[in-house]
Amino acid sequence: MSLEQDLFQRSESQCELCGSKEDLQVYAIPDSPADVESHILICGTCKEQIEDPEKTDSNHWRSLNESMWSPVPAVQVMAWRMLHRLKGEGWPQDLLDMMYMEEEQLVWAKAGQTIVESSGGVVHKDSNGQTIEAGDTVVLIKDLPVRGSSLVAKRGTSVRRVSLVHDNPEQIEGKVEGQQIVILTKFVKKV
Ligand SMILES: [Zn+2]
Repeated sequence: MSLEQDLFQRSESQCELCGSKEDLQVYAIPDSPADVESHILICGTCKEQIEDPEKTDSNHWRSLNESMWSPVPAVQVMAWRMLHRLKGEGWPQDLLDMMYMEEEQLVWAKAGQTIVESSGGVVHKDSNGQTIEAGDTVVLIKDLPVRGSSLVAKRGTSVRRVSLVHDNPEQIEGKVEGQQIVILTKFVKKV
């Protein structure tokens, strides 16, 4: 059987997100791990709204309160992503709170989210204006007292595998002498 036939059978010829029987098509969930079944069958309306956040009509997605309980991991992931997009409306947040997902699927669901959020334009730059990315190594360019402790992170200390503070372009995090600390980007230089 082809993938499409498989999906029609699994879904009983309905949109796996909203139940519509119109304009059904195979949809590959973006940002999916290579080794999972990431296709779902959805209708034209769902597809259009998934792809264009500006066209998202929250009322269309009320049926997620049923589809989020689908046994199909890919459907759960897409339901989670849409609920996450709409959570400002209130009821989607309530559904998210109720939703149960395996850790693996949650990571998959969030993979798409990071990409949406990181295109939001928060860029971390070091003292020279170089872009810092998660996992980079930086060197401190001055002695920095660590808040809440007697530790002073010395100038010249290198901090490996930093992570970025997502909502603040001036802060990164990394380990100095075994302690996870927040560091201001203006006091570091990327290696
Ligand atoms: Zn649909």
